[in-house]
Amino acid sequence: SPARIGVTGLAVMGRNLARNFARHGYRVAVHNRTQARTTALLEEFGHEGEFVAAGTTEEFVAALERPRLIVIMVKAGAPTDAVIDELVPLLDEGDVVADGGNAHFLDTRRREAALRERGLHFVGSGISGGEQGALEGPSIMPGGTPEAYRVLGPLLEDIAAKVDGKPCCTHVGPDGAGHFVKMVHNGIEYADMQLIAEAYDLLRHGAGLQPDAIAEVFRTWNAGRLESYLIEITAEVLARTDAATGKPFVDVVLDQAEQKGTGRWTVQSALELGVPVSGIAEAVFARSLSGSVPLRQAGRGLPGPTETWLDSAAADRFADDVEQALYASKMVAYAQGFNQIQAGSAEYSWQIDPGEMATIWRGGCIIRARFLDRIRAAYEADRERPTLLTDAHFREALGSAQSAWRRVVSVAAQLGVPAPGFATALAYYDGLRAERLPAALVQGQRDFFGAHTYRRVDRDGTFHTRWEVEGRPEEQR
Ligand code: NDP
Repeated sequence: SPARIGVTGLAVMGRNLARNFARHGYRVAVHNRTQARTTALLEEFGHEGEFVAAGTTEEFVAALERPRLIVIMVKAGAPTDAVIDELVPLLDEGDVVADGGNAHFLDTRRREAALRERGLHFVGSGISGGEQGALEGPSIMPGGTPEAYRVLGPLLEDIAAKVDGKPCCTHVGPDGAGHFVKMVHNGIEYADMQLIAEAYDLLRHGAGLQPDAIAEVFRTWNAGRLESYLIEITAEVLARTDAATGKPFVDVVLDQAEQKGTGRWTVQSALELGVPVSGIAEAVFARSLSGSVPLRQAGRGLPGPTETWLDSAAADRFADDVEQALYASKMVAYAQGFNQIQAGSAEYSWQIDPGEMATIWRGGCIIRARFLDRIRAAYEADRERPTLLTDAHFREALGSAQSAWRRVVSVAAQLGVPAPGFATALAYYDGLRAERLPAALVQGQRDFFGAHTYRRVDRDGTFHTRWEVEGRPEEQR
């Protein structure tokens, strides 16, 4: 009998996704460019459910019931186009092609438009959760037409993670909306990881704690409001001892963070949209700095502060302060990311419900956390809110965290421990709070050197000052 759904691309993600469908009782057609992967899947996991192994794209398409549901899980970029080009001539009107890879949302928009022309549905679907998520329940962010979601959505919801009985999968919006949201998810992930890393660095080089002791601190935090997958795995990484040397694992790893590019995409998109996502940007730049080897070698001898540790009384209090600073900075980073989702949604007319995004990120994905329930609730109360930070919970939490947050940022500055994530989050917060920003002066400078004009607080219109003539009133432009 025909297969209910097909998965092509059987590397780590595709293989596990196919197994996930099969474990949920779906008959799954599986295909991979190199057939050895298909054979290996059947040999190792064939007993888990009903698989139909296809050697060629033709066999793969022929194995599927109509309308066909196909999930592509290949390397993002040109390989995705190559697979689409091979599939499309073999498909019929109404068939649904989903791309679960990490595609750029603009590529997804292009592909969706091209397939729509041919009467096919294209579902650009962000999938988060890595290998384990794909197998046991990822967070899925599908974009495309409502009709396509009606057909494919129930299967995706079935295999997605569940939190309080709700699937971590929803129809995000048209064309590139799903991949856009997945991109911002990854940007937020970068920011969250950077903030956690800074917290570790401050505890280590400010309070003088060793990695195993810091692991304990993180475990304690994970029992509270910071409870999240990232805090949990951080404790595990810090507690790990390197088998070969007996040293803490974190001390034998090269301190150069890598990136595959979704953080960079998030910042590029934010620059285009004009959304200040300083937390994500600092995280991307912090990874760049860590990997800039000649730059760091050149900089290593630069003078630093004479004071290098907290005294023991201050060190005792410090972990609590860092917890507050982390929570506050995290609120800012997420608020910025959600603003980017709102801005993207407005720019491309996607009608994305930000509260729903928080809901489907509560399980399955890398940033899953208790905290996302707060975000869901904040947007349920007001979907159009300009910033999460003014929601009652956030406002109160920021208010009570701010003294500690300021202490941590000043300790970091005094001791010379880099904490760009904490510092930029605080600067953003103070920027939002400010009655007047020095942007007024910037406007003056712009008018001075370029006659770029300015607006006044007390009168409508656009003005330019004749700077070379003292006392002369400005001209209205
Ligand atoms: P890879 O990104 O390593 O891609 C390998 C797969 O792509 C193989 O099946 C390979 O086939 C296939 N492929 C590459 N080029 C072509 C081509 N020109 N034509 C046909 N097939 C091709 O696999 P992953 O499983 O790691 O990731 C799959 C997708 O999921 C990627 O887009 C990735 O960004 C995304 N993703 C990955 C996550 C992860 O944790 N790894 C998490 C979330 C998303 P062959 O065996 O023949 O070489």
